[in-house]
Amino acid sequence: MWELVENLFCGFSKARWAACCAVHGAGSFHTRARRREETHPVWDSETMAVSKHTNVTEANNGMQIKTILNRIQKQRGFVYGPVRLVEEVEGLALYVEIYPHERSRPRCSGCGRRGGHYDTIGLRQFEFVPLWGLRVFFLYLMRRVHCRTCDAVRVETVPWAEGKRSVTTTYAWFLARWAKRLSWREVAVVFHTSWDQVFRAVAMAVAWGRAHVDLTGIEAIGLDEIQWQRGHRYLTLVYQIDAGRKRLLWIGQERRVKTVLRFFRWFGRDRTAALRFVCSDMWKPYLKVVAKKAGHALHVLDRFHIAMHMSKAIDEVRRSEVQDLRRQGRQPWLTKARWLLLKRPDHRTADERTRLKDLVRHNLKAVRSTLLREAFDPFWTYRSVDWAGAFLDAWCVQVMRSKIEPMKKVARMLRRHRPLLLNWFRARGQISAASVEGLNNKAKLTTRKAYGFRSYRCIEIALYHTLGQLPEPEVTHRFC
Ligand SMILES: [Zn+2]
Repeated sequence: MWELVENLFCGFSKARWAACCAVHGAGSFHTRARRREETHPVWDSETMAVSKHTNVTEANNGMQIKTILNRIQKQRGFVYGPVRLVEEVEGLALYVEIYPHERSRPRCSGCGRRGGHYDTIGLRQFEFVPLWGLRVFFLYLMRRVHCRTCDAVRVETVPWAEGKRSVTTTYAWFLARWAKRLSWREVAVVFHTSWDQVFRAVAMAVAWGRAHVDLTGIEAIGLDEIQWQRGHRYLTLVYQIDAGRKRLLWIGQERRVKTVLRFFRWFGRDRTAALRFVCSDMWKPYLKVVAKKAGHALHVLDRFHIAMHMSKAIDEVRRSEVQDLRRQGRQPWLTKARWLLLKRPDHRTADERTRLKDLVRHNLKAVRSTLLREAFDPFWTYRSVDWAGAFLDAWCVQVMRSKIEPMKKVARMLRRHRPLLLNWFRARGQISAASVEGLNNKAKLTTRKAYGFRSYRCIEIALYHTLGQLPEPEVTHRFC
């Protein structure tokens, strides 16, 4: 007899629960359930129609699961009820019932204060962290509060979930943490949930983290841009690049004057005044706003962006030479020579060396540009600002005589920003050299992973989540 009743009780699906509540009247559920806990329950005959799709097994270790839950996820004012193992169409699932403590009064979702129990409105299920690959759900009959503060009848708020979410807060944090290690799609697949669910979890984690982020002690920031969609659409990223801490602080759409001004507005006057170093590219809007807003800080043009400008110039030279050779009806040696040129001498094979000789014969300009770039490398090893300056001047003279226009453009640009460039040596050791580059690479990887969802909000959330080092709430138990 007991088994039969047990089967009846467990053979629910979501629809059946709803039907169940309708049949019994939601209000009677708790009293019934509690009675059921004391003596074995007797359920009405209406609930007896067990679906053929569900094959039910009793969880004999329900007691142990309850013990674990009480240990790692105690709910103040509530108690865990029986735990059931249910075979559903999607696979096995664990259902954990929750009841309010006898003396606990429900909390108003409007103001958070406790109030009188008005009535009970219906059963809700909340997804919890999966266990042994089984989906786990909390089942709870929501009450309504007669709230004196709000002077209204409101739905109660429960400690394990926020608002109308069908996912427990713990599970959302669990998904968000995994989303740092795997792509959102992978997280969704691994935990049998939807991409949207993962996205919402990450968005929740980012919103919480951004609200609780600690912005004290920031002395060095780096401004950087990344392309994020086809065409020329950019994001401006601002990093903290202090020697002890590197993280993403802020993201803005576009890379205009307005964008950077928005950052400084968000950052605040006091924190800006405390800045000692600002690192950026030679992009005009950045230079302009940094000079205006943080003129007191040492503005450094970093190594990574200069290397990028040079690579772009070499590529331009190579492309125009290929076009010239084609026009003359000769074989364009350089079409597949990009990596050959960029490769370090001691890594080249014999075959590559022969090809390089051919290259030198026919593609002088591209090879010479590469040599000019290599000749610039020692610049970064200088200790004295004056000697570095002298080296820079000599290098620029050499490039200006080379008659290679894209390289001359780079040299002119470096000359124009000579003081900022030399600030690198003044800031030496106080900002971490590779930090902007490292963060830039990570940001690119994130946007590439995030490719497919094209809205700015997705990219923004993904970047804050992976690079922001955002704080998380203190918990008694970490699930991953
Ligand atoms: Zn209220």
